Amino acid sequence: MIEIKNISKTFHKKKQAFKALDDVSLSIEQGDIVGIIGFSGAGKSTLIRTVNLLERPDQGQIIINGKDFVQLKSKELAKERKKIGMIFQHFNLLSSRTVFENVALPLELDHVNRSEIQSKVNELLKIVGLEEKASEYPKSLSGGQKQRVAIARALANDPYLLLCDEATSALDPATTQSILQLLRDINQRLGITILLITHEMDVIKSICNHVAVIDKGKLLTKGTLQEIISDKEHPVIKQFINPGIMTIPQELNKKLQKEPKDGLFPLVE
Ligand code: ADP
Repeated sequence: MIEIKNISKTFHKKKQAFKALDDVSLSIEQGDIVGIIGFSGAGKSTLIRTVNLLERPDQGQIIINGKDFVQLKSKELAKERKKIGMIFQHFNLLSSRTVFENVALPLELDHVNRSEIQSKVNELLKIVGLEEKASEYPKSLSGGQKQRVAIARALANDPYLLLCDEATSALDPATTQSILQLLRDINQRLGITILLITHEMDVIKSICNHVAVIDKGKLLTKGTLQEIISDKEHPVIKQFINPGIMTIPQELNKKLQKEPKDGLFPLVE
């Protein structure tokens, strides 16, 4: 259903060209939960941002339901993008809006009428288990609850694909598991394909049926979880399999220490 074909992306840092993605190809079947794992700076975010053209690749194709997104005109691309939900590590909620208003935002932008918004948002809040919190503001919610609001908002336009960018990295292990369980339910009940990026093998093990390993902008390997895990001698894969030598990337570690949050996972570095 989703064919990422020979995608490359170059950024310019201090006047030097830097290849963040180098000829990456990946196929994702409808209904799959695919994990993209790799170290910080490997190119994971850039890869998922090219899927909905938030990042335009220098070359290659993104074929979704038979359409090459790279070739779409901006109006059609905007229409297609609505069917791809996205969730982020730090939730990206609007602090001045209530839970209800945050979830309603994509529908308001689409000029959906008031009564439809009311019933759709109620339905979404029920799915994520936050009906009771509709009139609260993000600041009164826990990290896990904020991510549930973000998930409800991502589902507002009935997407067929959910892109998750380190969606559980700022959450403690128990909250991480409950968010992963919610994503699994959404995948099973609503049939939504999920593409998630993480630097934690445990996240992959909990939820993904397929895995792609990205290193230095290249797709190192892809396959089922079992296939990837069995390659124990691979120098990159073995660092993910053995959690004892896994460290939190330095920038993330610094960021987490600056932003006190409830339920942070223990810092390993
Ligand atoms: P990951 O998600 O695996 O941590 P990213 O895809 O965010 O990696 O980044 C890959 C590389 O591309 C990094 O070196 C990052 O600094 C660089 N990069 C990402 N976005 C930009 C940008 N907009 N401008 C310049 N460099 C970027």
